Amino acid sequence: MISKLPHVTTSIFAVMSKMAIDNDALNLSQGYPNFESDPYLIDLVNQAMKDGFNQYAPMPGDISLRDEISKKYYNLYKKRYDPDSEITVTAGATQAIFTAIAATVDKGDEVIIFTPAYDCYQPTVELFGGKTRPIQLKAPDYQIDWDEVSDTISNKTKMVIINTPHNPSGTILSKTDMEMLQSLVVEHGLYVISDEVYEHIIFDDHTHYSAALFPELAQRTFITASFGKTFHNTGWKMGYCLAPKILMREFQKVHQFNVFSVNHPIQKAMAIYLRTPEHYFGLSGLYQKKRDLLLDLMKDSRFKFVPSKGTYFQMLDYSEITDEGDRSFAEKLTKDFKVATIPTSVFNANEKDFKQLRVCFAKRDDTLRDAAMILNSI
Ligand code: PMP
Ligand code: GLN
Repeated sequence: MISKLPHVTTSIFAVMSKMAIDNDALNLSQGYPNFESDPYLIDLVNQAMKDGFNQYAPMPGDISLRDEISKKYYNLYKKRYDPDSEITVTAGATQAIFTAIAATVDKGDEVIIFTPAYDCYQPTVELFGGKTRPIQLKAPDYQIDWDEVSDTISNKTKMVIINTPHNPSGTILSKTDMEMLQSLVVEHGLYVISDEVYEHIIFDDHTHYSAALFPELAQRTFITASFGKTFHNTGWKMGYCLAPKILMREFQKVHQFNVFSVNHPIQKAMAIYLRTPEHYFGLSGLYQKKRDLLLDLMKDSRFKFVPSKGTYFQMLDYSEITDEGDRSFAEKLTKDFKVATIPTSVFNANEKDFKQLRVCFAKRDDTLRDAAMILNSI
């Protein structure tokens, strides 16, 4: 069979998590917590099952959940998304991103992405005949050069994909960045996917600038979000997409034949859980403590780092330790030292290697202590 994605291999997250299991290593690679979701939320899901919400949910999602999502965006960003026509509940952010790309990208279209980029963007664009135009961001600040973006836009450009807070670098886009993006996409008539799955994980005195805050940008943007990242249940694969009606109509045309609708009892439970904003407001404090614990423990190690500003990831520069490639170094760390990390060259154009490993600190404190002790010994 002729492959539609000849360059694609198994995702690095699957590869490194399997390597961690096979080698009995601490797993700081794939981004998921090793502590439990709130028992109250689990009870709510159980209750929804007992209450009989076990058949298909409505295609765009349960209306009580869409209402709560809409209220959240109004409360946080003063932007009203109509629950009836501008919100779809999805099987995680991955499906939201896939569906948004499927609904917009045609053969020959170009999509600007910023590398290191989350791994699903490029293959999905290519699956629909598009081509990504990567713009490389560089450590330590991973700033976007908006002149470079402007020079990269051509009459083939259809879309720009941003991700803030940014996986894997842990940086965030500033208000000025978002304003620059807004002016370019308005000028050139482009669509945007704003991948905001870490919107509630922001550290120190930083602010999350959602695309929802910028009216002309929001007019052209699909915002994607993940409950798994926010409520410690990545295995539930639940998220959502927000977009203006005219875009959401196209999104739902694809969504209905992609999954039709997603897990009904979890939607019922999330609708109740979201009514208490403290359930997501507490997240930054929780993860800031974990980031600080890890970095404090590692302050005398040979890894160099700039503290992450958001997400639950931290980049570690190992160039003082070895000039070995990041894939083989990550493999050695997993097999010989029993700590699994993510080599980040896989997220760069042409797999350019900047000697940076990504660790996930969404882990119990004892796991972080054990991992830091090992990393300090290297
Ligand atoms: N975007 C980014 C930047 C991510 O890190 C992830 C991984 N959680 C996703 C999208 C996908 O989220 P989900 O697990 O909800 O599909
Ligand atoms: N988002 C997670 C990460 O960045 C992985 C999700 C997945 O395995 N697809 O580690």
